[in-house]
Amino acid sequence: MNHLNTNLQRKFYLKTLGCQMNEHDSEIIVGILTNLGYQQTEDHKQADLILYNTCSVRENPERKVYGQIGSLRMQKEQNPDLIIGICGCMPQQKAELDKILETLPHVDLVFGTHNIHRLPELLERVQTEERVVEVWDDTEEIAEELPIRRANRFKAYVNVIYGCNNFCSYCVVPYTRGREKSRRPQDILAEIKQLADEGYKEVTLLGQNVNTYGADLSQKTSFAELLALINDHSGIERIRFTTSHPKDMQEELIAAMAHLPKVCEHLHLPVQTGSDRILKRMNRHYTSAYYLDLVARIREAIPDISLTTDLIVGFPGETDTDFEKTLELIAKVRFSSAFTFIFSPRPGTPAAQMGDQVPDEVKKERIYRLIELQNQISLEYMQAQVGKIEEVFVDEITGKTNKLSGRTRTNKQVLFSGSPDLIGRLVQVKITEAKTWSLRGVLA
Ligand code: SF4
Repeated sequence: MNHLNTNLQRKFYLKTLGCQMNEHDSEIIVGILTNLGYQQTEDHKQADLILYNTCSVRENPERKVYGQIGSLRMQKEQNPDLIIGICGCMPQQKAELDKILETLPHVDLVFGTHNIHRLPELLERVQTEERVVEVWDDTEEIAEELPIRRANRFKAYVNVIYGCNNFCSYCVVPYTRGREKSRRPQDILAEIKQLADEGYKEVTLLGQNVNTYGADLSQKTSFAELLALINDHSGIERIRFTTSHPKDMQEELIAAMAHLPKVCEHLHLPVQTGSDRILKRMNRHYTSAYYLDLVARIREAIPDISLTTDLIVGFPGETDTDFEKTLELIAKVRFSSAFTFIFSPRPGTPAAQMGDQVPDEVKKERIYRLIELQNQISLEYMQAQVGKIEEVFVDEITGKTNKLSGRTRTNKQVLFSGSPDLIGRLVQVKITEAKTWSLRGVLA
């Protein structure tokens, strides 16, 4: 069947929830659907295909998916040709898949995180079958050279490793994304070279744990070696990456960050909690002392580094004393910013089975205190930037202020006045004012 003719001018609406992995998967979905002749719409009422790329990391977004897709039932009744699909992390869990199939009878198409490349075939099948459900537990092969429609013209996400082997006790990712599988360095380099040729300036290398990149390859390559390869041979101007598990943060990688000029001075290093007892229950394989020592070694090698983190409050069994240890740790490390989460039990994970769940009011009170302290530290970090001249990569005009917006190498947003011609360029900006989340400046 000729996809282009059959699907000419059909419209799709795509809702993406969750992390950068999902955002990047959605760029591939958009690429595939565009190749099939579909056009993207922001209005689900106009769509012939509605697709939800879902996330399972927390409970609330999951609940919203059921609510939002549930409310599409009327639209489906009015337009029986409408295709409604769910993909991403939710269908990867057996219990969630069963619930989707049972409670959302108007969903026609369900697929998972490992078979996005099969979307054209699945869409063909949906024309003749009542319901198409294809979820793979895992995959040996990495599908290369899929079509992609990137959301940004200058900055691109590039997957380097899929899956996770760590089984932190609160996390569903090892169940939804399978075991670690690294892309071959030559495939990654070819993709980034092409991006540089197309005018892209910055890449963010993605993996649940980039630090173990390459361990599964027949020709072992470390993440530090991969960074050096991209730094020296791709033509891209800035390299970022996320996420790094502290237990796998090797000296070699710290040295690479210190010496490779294109690797930016920002490291996202999720600590989760400052309590050793809770770290153990989280199955994180490090202690707060190890983490603090690691931070000291990183700062010694890269004095200007901006460290950011993830923090969970209210993990089962967390006492006031455990929580105080988290506050102590963030006061010691002084992260430039942090993502803070209230623990939410995810079905199928060990932490959800733990008996000593923390009451909601306690969790809420703790997260307020944590955010208050971290915001203070973030503001002080930003204030310390005032007067500096920073290299800023300009990526857009912000709608509200009509100012140019860009990012420092440390990944802080800077707003300043200037010509729109500067979009897509690296410029020097003098920082003049600090807010908790962004900086203001003038072209230097
Ligand atoms: S390292 Fe832990 S938190 Fe991160 S994806 Fe793997 S299991 Fe989840």
